[in-house]
This record gives sequence, C-alpha cells and structure tokens, in this order.
Amino acid sequence: MLCDGFFVMLLPMPELPEVATIVNDLNRFVVGKKIVSINGDTPKLIQPYSFLEFEKRVKGKYFRRFERRGKFIVANLSSLSVRPYTLVWHMRMTGHLLYRDEKTESKNAKEFFADRRNQYIRFSIIFEDDSRLDFSDLRKFGALHLFEEGEFEKCKGVSILGPDALEYKWTAKELRERLGQKKVALKQALLDQTVLAGIGNIYADEILWASKLHPLMKTNLITNEECLRIIVVMKKILRLAIKHRGSSVDDYRDASGKAGNYSKYHRAYQKQNLPCFHCGNKIVRIKVNGRGTSFCPVCQPFRADPEPRRGASPGKNKKQTLRHGSGQTLTLQ
Ligand SMILES: [Zn+2]
Repeated sequence: MLCDGFFVMLLPMPELPEVATIVNDLNRFVVGKKIVSINGDTPKLIQPYSFLEFEKRVKGKYFRRFERRGKFIVANLSSLSVRPYTLVWHMRMTGHLLYRDEKTESKNAKEFFADRRNQYIRFSIIFEDDSRLDFSDLRKFGALHLFEEGEFEKCKGVSILGPDALEYKWTAKELRERLGQKKVALKQALLDQTVLAGIGNIYADEILWASKLHPLMKTNLITNEECLRIIVVMKKILRLAIKHRGSSVDDYRDASGKAGNYSKYHRAYQKQNLPCFHCGNKIVRIKVNGRGTSFCPVCQPFRADPEPRRGASPGKNKKQTLRHGSGQTLTLQ
C-alpha cells in the first residue's frame, strides 16, 4: 500500500530517469484523453477502492497533466462538473505503463508489445477514442492510488520525500546537512528518499563511481567539496539517463514498450569483475545495508575519520574490519 510507506526492494526498479521518461511519454500521448471504462483482473493493484467504485469515480474524467514526485507518477484528472481527482502510481519492481492506439498496431510497434515484459497487463484504462493505457506488472507489487485533489500530498509515501535529486537547486551545504542527519554509509543515505528523492540502486552506484566516493564512507565525514562533486555528477548522470530513456536492466520499458538505452553507459552498477573504466582495476561487489553495491576500490578509496574522538575509551574504539567483494579488508579504528 502506497500510504503504508516503502518496502525494501532487492531487484532493480524504475528510478528517477525511468519514471521521468514515462511521465514525458504520457504527457505526449494521454493528456486530454477522456476515460470511458476500466478493464482488469487484479483489483489489489488499485487502492483504496474496488474496481467498480474506482471506475465509477474516474469515468468521464480527462487526464490533465502527469508529474513526477521522486519515483511516483502523479496524474491529475479533471471534469467539467465534479471535483477533480489525483492518481498516484508506484511502479515498484516490474510495473510499467503502456500506451496503445491505432498507430501502435503498426508492425514495428507490435514487435515492442510482443516483448515478454509487456505481456503482464493487470488493468487497462480505456479512452473515448479507443486508445488505452495498460498497466503491465509481472510481480503485482505496483500500486495505483486514487485521491481527491490535494489529498495525495498528505500521503506518507509522498509527504516524506526529500527534495528532488534532479529538479531541486542543491547547494553543497544543504546536501551535506541532509546527508549528515544520520551517521550511515553514504550509499545508504543516497537511497533514503527522505534525504533526497528519486535515486535507487542503479544510479547511486553510478553517482558514487563518478564522484570517486566510497559507498561505505560515513555521511558525517563528507565535505562540502565532496557534496559539490555529488551534485554535479548526479545531475549530469540523471539528465543523460533521461536523454537515453532510462536503464532497462530488467523489466522497465517506456510507454511505447521499448527498452531504455542508458544501461550501456553504466560504469559501476553490476560491473563486478570487469575493469574499471577509469583505472582498469577490477570493480568489486559488496553489500551496503543489504543492497548489492559495485564500486572501484582504487578510484573510490575508503576514508575513515582521520581524528578519533578525544577521550574515547579503548572499549569504544575497537577495530572493525570491512570485507570487500574482492577479499580485500579495510580496518577502521
Ligand atoms: Zn577505478
């Protein structure tokens, strides 16, 4: 349930660039379309209403505009006579939206829709002109929530979101303050949607590699200069990924059923045992807070606190060792 917060996903799911690609497509294809019916066989994916009740509320409404909030898709519905509604989608692991009309029945488009990943249609929104918006979701973890307009902002999943990783005008000072709120591994903080919204496992690995920062570095040690580096590469990577229509490492497809092309630009994510693009040493894989993490131990050296706290008792200053995927160990004082 969207309003019950997030649950940890171990497989890749659409992140900011993939959701932005879908939102851009839907603004092109679906805005102005009038809903006439809903077809489907998986009622649990629609909340908090039954299928019939949901259809009753959205029938006759027009899609006004699609927006992205972190990894959520927000769609505003309007009608001339009654109070508008807002739809909020979360794709989670395998969900994606597919738009079809008479043009998509062409030979080329049919090839994309024949992709196995586009075959798990759980429900369809049918429009007045016979075009439709399908929700394909192999694992059925996605969710579509209907709110009265304005109400969705109060939903926990949305209200807890930090500033957007791409759209917000970050300063190094503010990013440092937000990352440093909790003393955790840097990778873990980048994945925390309350710190900044939109980054998941793929882009966190790519941002850390391009920033030359170790994923296990503690956030309270990060400097303003390092935060500036993160901001610059984060925006560059996210913009480039949107330009290439996202990363299709698993089930993600755009609204036309096509795979994104950004995976070929990945430098760290799932590149374990391959040579680092910068230095040629092997990329290694470790777990950070349960999430698979790939990085270059040479380009992204670990940096521990250089000055142990004065007066800390020997008992509190025990040695800790961290084992890397390569078998290399780091000793922290
Ligand atoms: Zn390297």
